[in-house]
Amino acid sequence: MKTIGMLGGMSWESTAHYYQLLNKGINEALGGLHSARILLNSVNFQDIETLQRTGNWSDTALILGQAATTIEKGGADFIIICTNTMHKVADEISQFTSLPILHIADTTAETLRSANIKRVGLLGTAFTMEQAFYKTRIREKFGIEVTIPCEEDRAFVHKVIYQELCKGIISNESKLRFLDIINELYSQGCQGVILGCTEISLLVQQDDTNVTLFDTTAIHAKAAVSLALSC
Ligand code: GLU
Repeated sequence: MKTIGMLGGMSWESTAHYYQLLNKGINEALGGLHSARILLNSVNFQDIETLQRTGNWSDTALILGQAATTIEKGGADFIIICTNTMHKVADEISQFTSLPILHIADTTAETLRSANIKRVGLLGTAFTMEQAFYKTRIREKFGIEVTIPCEEDRAFVHKVIYQELCKGIISNESKLRFLDIINELYSQGCQGVILGCTEISLLVQQDDTNVTLFDTTAIHAKAAVSLALSC
């Protein structure tokens, strides 16, 4: 079994979820007492969030690149960056390490393609929803159209991620509004919605809606388990 290198802590609430999914995935495949081989470097999210807010993405890449270096020295075989947003600097991080990085947007888009999705809604941080690094990659590499919510809804989703979900606060009021936003994307012709922030599945799950959801945490973790078990 390969050792999974996790760049985590963004936030630790979702990293804890990833950790469970990786271990459960390996155990489901191998049985017994098998669990995942993992090296986790969990950063201080306050540092990352401050740099994001002030637009200093090069320093976020430096922090995560150095964290990736320690994961490589520890003996991991590949890296997963346990956040959608920080894939904005995935190319910069990859310059610090010779390890492959399993890209969350690629694993998600491959899942969308298998489900024959041509047009999908995207929920995530404002960075993920509004900037090119994520949706353009899905559009250009996989030919899938990505639709984002209106400005007011984007601001709401962003606020809930940082002020609630990353702090472990799960509010029913926020959940209902997220479900309205998901329905709105569906009514605009989206065949499903990407939960493109690794904390959103802590708030909204597939059982809450008839709209097909693509949970990036679960998809990314599943792809990491497959890679860990591959020869
Ligand atoms: N975990 C979130 C994501 O998947 C947001 C936190 C962050 O900015 O990294 O985008």
